[in-house]
Amino acid sequence: METKRIPPIALCAAALVAALAATGDAQSASGWINAYRDTATRLIKAATADDFAWQRLAELTDTYGNRLSGSDNLTRAIAWAAETMKKDGLENIRTEKVMVPKWTRGREVAEIVDPPRHTLSILGLGGSVATPPGGLEAEVLVVESFNELRMHATDARGRIVLFNQAFTNYADTVSYRTGSARAAAQAGALAVLVRSVGPVGLRTPHTGSVQYQSDLPQIPAAAISGEDANRIARMSARGRKVRVHLALEGRSEGDAESANVVAEIRGRERPEEIVVLGGHLDSWDVGAGASDDGVGCVITWEALRLMKKLGIQPRRTVRLVLWTNEENGTRGAAAYAERYASTAMNHVFALEADSGVFEPARFGFSGSLSARNMIRDITSLLAPLNLAETISGGGGADIDPIAQAGRSPTMAYMGDPTRYFTIHHTPADTVERIAPEEVSKGAAAIAVVIYVIAEMPDRLPR
Ligand SMILES: [Zn+2]
Repeated sequence: METKRIPPIALCAAALVAALAATGDAQSASGWINAYRDTATRLIKAATADDFAWQRLAELTDTYGNRLSGSDNLTRAIAWAAETMKKDGLENIRTEKVMVPKWTRGREVAEIVDPPRHTLSILGLGGSVATPPGGLEAEVLVVESFNELRMHATDARGRIVLFNQAFTNYADTVSYRTGSARAAAQAGALAVLVRSVGPVGLRTPHTGSVQYQSDLPQIPAAAISGEDANRIARMSARGRKVRVHLALEGRSEGDAESANVVAEIRGRERPEEIVVLGGHLDSWDVGAGASDDGVGCVITWEALRLMKKLGIQPRRTVRLVLWTNEENGTRGAAAYAERYASTAMNHVFALEADSGVFEPARFGFSGSLSARNMIRDITSLLAPLNLAETISGGGGADIDPIAQAGRSPTMAYMGDPTRYFTIHHTPADTVERIAPEEVSKGAAAIAVVIYVIAEMPDRLPR
């Protein structure tokens, strides 16, 4: 396939920024970092020379599609990744077996039956139980919060509860998806609908996990688009009774075999010290899992491919892990932490990319003040990439267990959250939305950070 050049104007601007950074501004970074500047420049040049990384992401998402835990798509994508890593010349490539939960969606329908019929844009929540065959029908009780449901708990019995909680940010709003079924079941509801956790998009529903509680009935749970949630809420506020018919076929099928894919560049002096990085290869079963998290897999993988290509073998081992089952169980993360428990303290640093690459992208970092200062020096090498400033706080569901066990500093690469969460867990999560330049930039930034941390004489302080 033809590879596309990055427009020369972008490179000119980049070169200018680099030149400025190398002269007057260099004193803001400590001198130690200058030893890494040449290699960093080579990595950035190699990463941004073409659209190789975007093409790899397109190949992954076109060929294997979405990759839910337990699906054939994921199994095939795992085999492809391991095979392709061999072609890249990476070392110690292996698939490490993980048993993962298997859930299938089946057909899904929801509509307002009175007043006038209106088909709702829905997606069942991952892990949801089915409705009775043929579906169920009930009047909707609209609430905005868990608190409001508690105040109107007696009205919820025998109804479908709709949580119409507007999206603020993911961390704050996601509890309405995970906790909706428990709260509604406790109040005696038949089923629960949740306004999709994301900014209002193009009437897109967003799936994601729902959590049940063992001592409460498991009720069917689905997300509806923000537009449809608002429509029901407006009618209800006008005093209209809204009846909804809901039919879901979600089914849990026990555990299936899956794997984390692991590859390394073995450290030349301290191979026992590990710098781990990666993304998750599984995705929800809608869209193509491009931003979540095919792109995270590709940009972290690129760090190793580029080092190999340029003949860079750092002092410490760089280990890539493409985790399985992040979306509905994090069993891949748990299996990794268990398998490597005895070497957890040798994990010097952990980086995860699972928030897309949309501009403006940046790093988030969690670690001690002295580590943070060194990260500031390291990221000064990224001036040509024009990233937003590194923020405090960065980890990931897949790296957190091993990093906690090893007390390792952690970092996340993250794209603009508004663009990311507009397509997150939707049928619209495809490669079209991601610009090749953004993928190359993420790969370049991660490659430089990982290279320096794997190469510097002393390990990054805890
Ligand atoms: Zn993800």
